[in-house]
This record gives sequence, C-alpha cells and structure tokens, in this order.
Amino acid sequence: MKKDFSPTLLDFGPLKIYLARHFGFCYGVENAIEIAFKTVEENPGKRIFLLSEMIHNPQVNADLQAHGIVFLQDTYGKQLIPFEEITADDIVLIPAFGTTLEIEEKLKRIGIQTEKYNTTCPFVEKVWNRSEAIAKKDYTVIIHGKPKHEETRATFSHAASNAPSVIVKDMQEAKELAKYITGEKPVDDFYTEFKGQYSEGFDVEKDLQRIGVVNQTTMLASDTQAIADFLKQVMIEKFRPSDPEERFADTRDTLCYATNDNQTAVSGMLEADADLAIVVGGYNSSNTSHLVELCEEKLPTYFINNEERILSANEILHYNFHTKEELLTTDYLPKKEPVRILITSGASCPDALVEGVICKLAHIYSVKEKMEGLERSFI
Ligand code: SF4
Repeated sequence: MKKDFSPTLLDFGPLKIYLARHFGFCYGVENAIEIAFKTVEENPGKRIFLLSEMIHNPQVNADLQAHGIVFLQDTYGKQLIPFEEITADDIVLIPAFGTTLEIEEKLKRIGIQTEKYNTTCPFVEKVWNRSEAIAKKDYTVIIHGKPKHEETRATFSHAASNAPSVIVKDMQEAKELAKYITGEKPVDDFYTEFKGQYSEGFDVEKDLQRIGVVNQTTMLASDTQAIADFLKQVMIEKFRPSDPEERFADTRDTLCYATNDNQTAVSGMLEADADLAIVVGGYNSSNTSHLVELCEEKLPTYFINNEERILSANEILHYNFHTKEELLTTDYLPKKEPVRILITSGASCPDALVEGVICKLAHIYSVKEKMEGLERSFI
C-alpha cells in the first residue's frame, strides 16, 4: 500500500502546526533502549557499561546514566574508561550503531558475552551483510558515511575484514576518489588525502578496478544516490565495460526504513505553505541534521534539542550544524497570524521532546487550552 506522507495539521487558530507524518524514534532506537533498561532491571548489583552513547540524544543518554549505566567511550571513540578496568563479571552493551570487530574481539578476550547484550540495529547489520555480498564478488567497498560516526566506523571494520574498503563522506570526496580511478591524481596522494579512511594494505592501482557502494543508514537519500550514480559513470567512462556490473556493483542504497520515511515525510511536509520549520533532535545526530538540510532548502529552519531552546516569542537558541555552533536568533516568529510552523524530529529523539516544543509554542500563542483539548481528543 502506498504510504501517506502528508503532514498532520494541528490547528490552534493563530498557530498552525504541520507535524511530519513520520518522525522520531525508529525501531532500532526503541529496541536498544528497551534492552538497556531491561538489562539494568535484570542485573541488580552488576556494573553495566555502554560502549559509547546509545544513540545521539543527550536526554536519552542522561536517562541511561541516571540508571547507573556508564559509558566506556565518548561518541568519537575516545576512551573514557580503560578496557583494562573491565572484568568478565561486567556487562557491556553494544549500542544501536554496532561496533568494530576489533572492539568486539577485545571484549571477548576479557570474557564479556557480547552477543547477549548487543543492541546493534538489524538495519545496520543489513549494511554489513550487503558489503560482505559485494566483497564476495570481488568488488572494493566504498562506504558513503561520516568517517568518525560510530556506525560508519563499525561498517568500515566489517567491510574491511572482507574486502578493500574506503569511506567517502560526501560528493566532494567521491569526486576526489574518482581522480584516482581515472589516474588524474598521483597514486601516492591517495594515502594522505584519505588517511584514516581506507583499509590496511589498500592498493590504489589494484583496488579501484571494481567497486560497489554502501552507505551509513542515516545519510541523505539524494546524496547517496548522486554519489553512486556519479561513481558508476566514472567506472563506465574509464573501463567501457560491455555490462556496467563488470565494474560497478548494482545495488540499492542501504539507508534504513526510518531514514527513508522521515526524509520522505519532510518532503511531504515541505509542500505545506509555512513560515518556518523546527527540527528537534540531538546536535550530533546524523539523521536529524539531514532533515534540517532538507528544510533549510525551502524556509528558515531552527534545529533545537528541546523546548528550552525556545527562549521566548522573540528569541530562539538553535544549532547551526554546518559551523557546529549554537546561535541566538531574534524575531524568529513572523509578526502575523496565523503563523504556520513545520515540525519534525530525528530517529533518536523521544516524542516527549516534540510534545514539549509544541506546548511551548502553544504557550507563546496563548492557545494551551486548545492543546489540552486536542490531547483529550487523542486519548
Ligand atoms: S536510524 Fe535506522 S539504522 Fe539507525 S537505529 Fe534507527 S532503524 Fe536502525
């Protein structure tokens, strides 16, 4: 059945909110959180560690920490607690992003049962399976993803165990990689330009003859498509194969259903005639920043992590993920009525935070009672 991606209109009179049809928590995140809390409940007195942030949402992570869960690494892989301090009696949860084979091996050597407390999302595992399938057919795996993101590091580790692999973070890097395929750039430059993004023993001359693309599950669908199309074309022009598949593995992207649904719902929401958009989510959340990117193309967009960032009717604190800084903007609400606002949130954002934002706006427009009435009609 065709899915409906039109937004839901919450009409409060002077304030009209268009809520994306699909937003917020995905299966992988819900599953990971459920396992984490169940683990706490079933293991009183045990030390419970999480390899790194469970998901990219500060509230959820703070909640887990409040329940006694301790993080072993920060989101960039920096060790917060040395592995030497972990014993076989401890529990170590693997987050929804998955982890590298090296870390898994390290934990196993300590005696940790990694399978029992593994919350890796099945959609991330699907990417690993896809890269393995590509590798088996002798293609090099090109991973479109953020090189420092936990999920991409995990995917890279799994892919590299089966085939030569390289990470490209965007079209610009894909274009640079293409210059090594065509021979425009000297081979040696590759190793500096892609430092930390290629597998051990990568041979530029040998390993860029047959390639396939997989991607981090939360990238922007159009970006991944453009990169795959571009690299395919480069391979066709360079090698002129009778069948493109001789040189380029023809597979679909490996974005997960939540990324696809949330991005398509944003496109549906953007069809509404609105004044501004508010995107709620953790500032280091990849999937949320892509929703922001889509909205920014069309209208003023404010990326906030909770309702407290809406300081008043005149001021909002919001995150610019391009420059990685929080900014204060004044007069963000147009002086007219009704005001039309689009709202969505990332896959790692609890729905309660979206509700908080709607409540805050309802308060600003003095329509809180209408909102309460709406809540009752939903019950
Ligand atoms: S965003 Fe997708 S891949 Fe990531 S945890 Fe959610 S469902 Fe899984």
